[in-house]
Amino acid sequence: MREVRFSAPAPEGIGVELIGVPPGADIDLDLRLESVMEGVLVSGVSTVPLAGECGRCLEAVSNTLSVDLQELFAYPESESGGDDEDLARMEGDLLDLEPVLRDAVVLALPLTPLCRPDCGGLCTECGERLDDLPEDHAHDAPDPRWAALQDLSRSTSTTDNQEK
Ligand SMILES: [Zn+2]
Ligand SMILES: [Zn+2]
Repeated sequence: MREVRFSAPAPEGIGVELIGVPPGADIDLDLRLESVMEGVLVSGVSTVPLAGECGRCLEAVSNTLSVDLQELFAYPESESGGDDEDLARMEGDLLDLEPVLRDAVVLALPLTPLCRPDCGGLCTECGERLDDLPEDHAHDAPDPRWAALQDLSRSTSTTDNQEK
């Protein structure tokens, strides 16, 4: 059994629409390689940097993700698995970790990354981030059909028609 620890630059295209691993960023791998009957069992943890944008307000999001990896790499000449295309196979003495890492990371990615758990998103009226706006941010005419009514009420009363 061997333990290996190393960093490698991220390949292109690990990610989903809104968030992923920036190509070239350092990926840390902390792995155990165990020789078993059919091949080499690789297990361990990989830590990857993430960059993307908040699914609600589009603010840039960056953090790190740790994923567990486990994969059996069959010896190139081993019979196990037969023609199973999904079986990872060693190429000579080399293990291609990229597909394993890619699958693990993509599965662990949030479908909707958020800049913070209770991100308020964008104001539907003006498109500004609600988190950047005062709490009582509101627009006078939320719907054009009400605008005429509001003009009416403004001309007939001086009190503020807040609904809360
Ligand atoms: Zn956000
Ligand atoms: Zn607004």
